[in-house]
Amino acid sequence: MREQGLAADDPVLRLDRVGLSYGPENDVLSDVSLSLAPGSLTFLTGPSGAGKSTLLKLAYLGLRPTAGRVSIFGVDTTRLSRRELAPLRRRVGVVFQEFRLLDHLSAYENVALPLRVAGAQERTYREDVVELLTWVGLGDRLEARPATLSGGEKQRVAIARAVVVKPNLILADEPTGNVDEEMGDRLFRLFRELNKRLGTTILIATHDMALVRKAKSDVLRLADGMVMRVPASALAAKEEPA
Ligand code: ADP
Repeated sequence: MREQGLAADDPVLRLDRVGLSYGPENDVLSDVSLSLAPGSLTFLTGPSGAGKSTLLKLAYLGLRPTAGRVSIFGVDTTRLSRRELAPLRRRVGVVFQEFRLLDHLSAYENVALPLRVAGAQERTYREDVVELLTWVGLGDRLEARPATLSGGEKQRVAIARAVVVKPNLILADEPTGNVDEEMGDRLFRLFRELNKRLGTTILIATHDMALVRKAKSDVLRLADGMVMRVPASALAAKEEPA
């Protein structure tokens, strides 16, 4: 049963006493333990330079820890080769602050790219891609190149691209960093909808505390190389006047 993948109560992502240093005297994470339950939506906060991006890189298996263990979908990744990591990575969607769209491709082609790369035939996915772009509010901009889109529109294309492969886990690194507050709220609603409708587990790294407070989700706070979990209820309590 366990070899089949995730058991119902396995965390989607689990870090056990993880350390990461980029070199001597460059310890970014010293002792990080955390777990994300299936279907949860969690924020990762902490000051700039605290190691949020580093932690996300460990989570999408783009970086190996220098100490401790990273498990994803119930699989301990410590001893896996790059080839063995590949199918696990395909179940993770990543959204970056700076969008990372390909400029010479249209919105439609950018979203379709992960499927094309995986060898799918266009007739099997065209409708899904159009539907996803419609969901993010860009059904009338299918042929637009990224250069002609606003920051919020680019980020919506990037979200659609992350979602198109139907990932079990979405990691977003400062996804609202390059847009105004109203668009930030709108982007967050997309993540929330994905989480509610499809049960996708979502981790959003952000220093946008206004968004975090509005969202009423659990928070993992990263400071001094360690992570502390702050439940949504504790955040809400802090907001109450004394
Ligand atoms: P955050 O996302 O919270 O701003 P980062 O994970 O980007 O933090 O960076 C944490 C620290 O690690 C910073 O001091 C940064 O300079 C350093 N760092 C990040 N990536 C590298 C790297 N590839 N090589 C060396 N140092 C790095």
